Amino acid sequence: MNNIAEQLQLAYHNLTQKCLQLSANIDTVQLLAVSKTKPVSAIEAAYQAGQRHFGENYPQELATKATELSGYADICWHFIGPLQSNKTRLVAEHAHWVHSIERLKIAQRLNEQRPATLKKLKVLLQINISDEASKAGIAPADMLQLAEAVNQLPQLELKGLMAIPAPGQSETAFAAMQQLSLQLQQRYAQATELSMGMSDDWPLALRYGATMIRLGTAIFGARD
Ligand SMILES: *Cc1c(COP(=O)(O)O)cnc(C)c1O
Repeated sequence: MNNIAEQLQLAYHNLTQKCLQLSANIDTVQLLAVSKTKPVSAIEAAYQAGQRHFGENYPQELATKATELSGYADICWHFIGPLQSNKTRLVAEHAHWVHSIERLKIAQRLNEQRPATLKKLKVLLQINISDEASKAGIAPADMLQLAEAVNQLPQLELKGLMAIPAPGQSETAFAAMQQLSLQLQQRYAQATELSMGMSDDWPLALRYGATMIRLGTAIFGARD
């Protein structure tokens, strides 16, 4: 077995153990392998080991990799990075999910540019949960307003929330995200996804109801 296959196997083992410990249903938790900056060969190795969901941060890199790997028709691409207006088309044409919706204008462009031949683009609203001036995401107080507008875009499907807590504040942030998610689901019953937790803090995220954990380093090793 190659190293990526071993790391994946270990990650799924740890995830299963953690779910058992928390009495959480593992079928409702998706592990995303975050492959940003890693070569296509690394994604292929993970694919051969059974992985299907991949996360990418840069629109051009996502488009290039998705095109190169288009023979693997069941790969599910998640765009998880910051998105500027001039790059929305690349994401609309190649992603299955976008975790980083923080402006209506970006959502509208994705809606217009989503090819009619593809399924609806599944989207999550990114919340700036630690209230960091420099960080992406909307304020919690603006969540319902953005959700209402995004929910009306026919080519998008509002599926939930995403957050990247400030270092050292994961637990407070995850607890707050769980409450926000419940609030969102009261209005939008289908918006059940909660994307939070990375290589360092995913067990804690799981404890607060994460349904998508995003692991880069734990699967592919350190990035340059
Ligand atoms: C890079 C990245 C990850 C993966 O981070 P690791 O610490 O390597 O697991 C997860 N989420 C986002 C949004 C990222 O940019």
